[in-house]
Amino acid sequence: MSPEVKPDSLLNAEGLRFDGRRIDELRPVQMEVGVLKTADGSASIRQGKTYILAAVYGPRELHPRHLTLNDRAFLRVVYRMATFSVPDRKRPAPSRREREISMVIANALQPVLFLEQYPKAVIDVFIQVIQADGGTRCAAINAASLALADAGIPMRSLVPSVAVGKAEGTLIVDLGDEEDKYGEGDVPLAILPGTNELTLLQQDGSFTREELMEAMQMGINACKYLHELQKDALKRSYSKKAPEGEDDDDEMDDYDDDLETDLGEADIMEDE
Ligand code: UDP
Repeated sequence: MSPEVKPDSLLNAEGLRFDGRRIDELRPVQMEVGVLKTADGSASIRQGKTYILAAVYGPRELHPRHLTLNDRAFLRVVYRMATFSVPDRKRPAPSRREREISMVIANALQPVLFLEQYPKAVIDVFIQVIQADGGTRCAAINAASLALADAGIPMRSLVPSVAVGKAEGTLIVDLGDEEDKYGEGDVPLAILPGTNELTLLQQDGSFTREELMEAMQMGINACKYLHELQKDALKRSYSKKAPEGEDDDDEMDDYDDDLETDLGEADIMEDE
């Protein structure tokens, strides 16, 4: 891995970021649904160089049983970074940071789920960061909500998420790793797109009240765009499944055509 180079400046004279993006421009985002055969639901996201897989199992029986909740399902989120996901080998043992991120992701997703419909069960959400380049908790929420939908779990909506940060006194959307490290702070957030209610709001670094309000507005705008990408990814996964149905229809049409031909021939023979 090439050694990390600290950029001379995070914003140039034209107001563009060191990777050429405008201040409100997201990194290229690709989301895909149904990427794992074994899981009940799954999704992947590439956001810049950040690459994450999410797998959902359940609702299913909860082990260990002492974690059982009598009135609702337990939403168990496990966020982990692969040892090779960052330039310095990540120690495999779960870190405090991973445990905290697992908890905030669960809190961000919980409001869209009907957990009370599955008392005593568990919904497992496993998130594996394959490559980390900033913004992993937000990208993980984007992928996890798609994986939950892919598992067929009833949801009020998908949950889009992004971080807004500050570099050289300017608010910037969707930080890459260098912007995260050398910028002045970040505000990861997640929203319910129907109402703009926040299900995640964290803050690292100092922001004035006005900056925070503006950061939230920029984040909400970016989340609206991410929500469209999430819906597109879901629709694509269904249209991928559709050709099988179309094939079936085509086969039936061929069968009908053959039958007509056969009957036609039979008619002709009868006429003779
Ligand atoms: N990071 C790292 N090693 C670690 C944890 C994080 O290099 O053990 C990097 C990684 O690129 C991550 C970034 O630091 O995306 C920012 O981490 P943060 O804790 O702010 O969470 P994130 O922005 O990924 O949600």
